[in-house]
Amino acid sequence: MWIIRIGVRSSLNFRGQVNVVKGELIPKPESNFVRVKCAKCGNEQVIFDRPSLAPHCSVCNEVLAEPTGGKARLKAEVVQMLG
Ligand SMILES: [Zn+2]
Repeated sequence: MWIIRIGVRSSLNFRGQVNVVKGELIPKPESNFVRVKCAKCGNEQVIFDRPSLAPHCSVCNEVLAEPTGGKARLKAEVVQMLG
């Protein structure tokens, strides 16, 4: 009986982990990478449009977007939307 309980519990855990991995690997339709142009120095770089941390320009360290918990508030000019 004890062995059966453990078996059920671990298969549930395994199923949960698979769901988490799937969520990370398959991007949601509204999630995109955007190529932005830094307003300060003109450097172009690709950032995620739903960052958890504010992305900074790799050249002048200017903040390129503000994380909001959802789609970031972009502070740089969008040059191109990427998949
Ligand atoms: Zn810059």
